[in-house]
Amino acid sequence: MGLQERLRAQLQQREREQLHRQRLSLDSPQAAEIRLGNEQLLNFCSNDYLGLANHPAVIEASQAAAAQWGAGSGASHLVCGHTSLVDELERKFANFVGAQRALLLSTGYMANLAAITSFAGRGSWVLQDKLNHASLIDAATLSRARLKRWRHGDTAHLRQLLQQPDRPESLLLASDSVFSMDGDLANLGELANIGHEYDALTLLDDAHGIGVMGRDGRGSLDAAGLQPKGNLLMLATLGKALGNFGALLTGDILLIETLVQQARPYIYTTALPPSVVAGSLKALELLQSEAWRQQQLQENIRYFCQCAGQENLPLMASRTAIQPIVLGSNQRALDASRALREKGLLVTAIRPPTVPKSTARLRITLRADHSRQQIDRLLENLVQLSVQPELAQ
Ligand SMILES: *Cc1c(COP(=O)(O)O)cnc(C)c1O
Repeated sequence: MGLQERLRAQLQQREREQLHRQRLSLDSPQAAEIRLGNEQLLNFCSNDYLGLANHPAVIEASQAAAAQWGAGSGASHLVCGHTSLVDELERKFANFVGAQRALLLSTGYMANLAAITSFAGRGSWVLQDKLNHASLIDAATLSRARLKRWRHGDTAHLRQLLQQPDRPESLLLASDSVFSMDGDLANLGELANIGHEYDALTLLDDAHGIGVMGRDGRGSLDAAGLQPKGNLLMLATLGKALGNFGALLTGDILLIETLVQQARPYIYTTALPPSVVAGSLKALELLQSEAWRQQQLQENIRYFCQCAGQENLPLMASRTAIQPIVLGSNQRALDASRALREKGLLVTAIRPPTVPKSTARLRITLRADHSRQQIDRLLENLVQLSVQPELAQ
């Protein structure tokens, strides 16, 4: 088969397996209600948990920064694309989460590549939770280290893996702190202990915890009484609850300086545009000055879980803004998502390889600015659909 035939066959195979993905083209900003063409939909699938992506103060700060600093950064950080604006964001963010230092990178995906390839290499072991985000898994491959995965949430299994006799000195543990497709929490205290005991760099990916968990949104580590110190390196992304774009790795000076010197996904790329940096600075301020957003989100989560429980909807063990309903086959998840859309509700179906086979699901995400009535509408429609996981075949 020639190249083009092979590609065509692959795409057709994806369609047959209900794995074909289609992009939605929004015609409005992120908000509780969004518009797609002529459709007005309630948005239950963005990661803009606090409603900061379209916050007037964030937009104003971005516009002012573009006027002052220009549109593009013009170079990479180690050449001449780094600005005092970035210094300010790094300093304020490090202070906020109780770290010695923070480093701004283009995306969370690249930050995970940067962290793992800088602290692990040929001969190292990278140990990860089975349900970690794709960027952590890809980073391990890129690092050329040996990847070992522990059963989801099972730190006893992690300890078993670490007791194998051929364990090298160079170890890196990595875990989502809030799991992106299940919404449950890692046992951060135990991971920190293990990282300390085995002298392993411990990377905690708080993409879905920052802004949402902990005091004023300081994140999952803060909620667990931890700080990014010693062997702990924390990833916070700016594109989810903070409503902007980019990511910060935070930890001790020694770790961050190592990244500046060695991390190829940091060094060989253009620095972020100033408007995005200024938007993030404003969002960071808003976490504290508008802390009611976190409280409203927590209240919405509590309300949703309580009502869904009363209706016997099959929720998972999540108390975060991510509330998945596992339906099983790709077809069932797609059908449910389509049916909801016909009722004016946008809830995307998540399918493999993003989630394990036969666990396709509706991934509901809640926002601070969802009203009770909007959540009620979602619940009513879920009940009408009588979403239940299919029996194992
Ligand atoms: C979204 C996400 C990332 C990637 O962050 P981006 O800034 O979107 O590249 C990394 N880790 C987890 C757990 C995520 O959910």
